[in-house]
Amino acid sequence: MTQVTRRGLLAGAAALAALPAGISHAAAPFRNTLPPAWHRFHFGDYEATVISDGRLPLGKPEPAFPASPPQEINGLLQDNFLPPDAATLEQNVLVLNTGRQLILFDTGMGESMGADSKMFGPTTGKMLANMRAAGIEPEQIDLVVLTHAHCDHCWALVDAQGNRTFPNAQVAVSEADLKYWTDDNNKRGPAFMTSFIEGAKKNLSAYRDRMVMVRDEQEVTPGVVALSTPGHTVGHHCYAIRSGNQMMMNTGDLAHHHVLLLRKPLWEFSFDTDPKQSAQSRSRMLDRLATDRTPVLSYHFPWPGLGHVSRHSDGGYDWVAAPMDLSTLG
Ligand SMILES: [Zn+2]
Repeated sequence: MTQVTRRGLLAGAAALAALPAGISHAAAPFRNTLPPAWHRFHFGDYEATVISDGRLPLGKPEPAFPASPPQEINGLLQDNFLPPDAATLEQNVLVLNTGRQLILFDTGMGESMGADSKMFGPTTGKMLANMRAAGIEPEQIDLVVLTHAHCDHCWALVDAQGNRTFPNAQVAVSEADLKYWTDDNNKRGPAFMTSFIEGAKKNLSAYRDRMVMVRDEQEVTPGVVALSTPGHTVGHHCYAIRSGNQMMMNTGDLAHHHVLLLRKPLWEFSFDTDPKQSAQSRSRMLDRLATDRTPVLSYHFPWPGLGHVSRHSDGGYDWVAAPMDLSTLG
């Protein structure tokens, strides 16, 4: 038997401190990869999963807010510790399991339109991979509910070959958006219009025989009520989701930036079909959300887009992100 001495123990301890056995000090390569991005919580009797489609970089924010003073844009971003020259939007897709149905709200950019699918760079189009990582297969989706028919919300309805990504799903969209974004006569104005219309035609036409028309203040499916908020597109809708006595609002693209368009809800955004109408819809809905203290899921706000809207002293609003806690929206 080896005699263990105090001196021997101390010497051994010193050696361990210098080079712990089994721990490598060799440099490890940076991975430069992100973990799958999904977040799950209970809402009433439902299970909700927010899935990221990846970040959507807008670049310099000034061109997106052409009627707003650049120094005010800069000041608001800097006051909120955000870079003044690179605005980034998240893409927060909601899957709601009501126990009866699996409902997907918006789809992300997808890969259906070739190079156009990467018009905002390589960081978008991650929804399907993240959805599978969250344990949900596209075949399980019963209903896709669209807030509107823009690229970052409906271009993953089909794959590059035009095949349905969600083979067992119906698609709910407003008649106004369906008509507008599949009409070649609307290929005018900003350069993006042609690509937006071609993409909507390809993606929506694959579901022509399984469309549900969304109507203001009516149930799309039990537990989900559509609320017309036109302006960003002609038929943009928010969705009030109810379970028991709880309600949350999926606001889609009511506001794209959690600082700029909450503090300045009347500012006009360049991707709006009717920026003035959009500003009115935004002001009206933000007032309601702040008054009723309604939990919100916002598509483009910082991941995972869950929180509340509170009044700011200057007449605008603040975004108050919810803690990443299963009970926060319950
Ligand atoms: Zn959007």
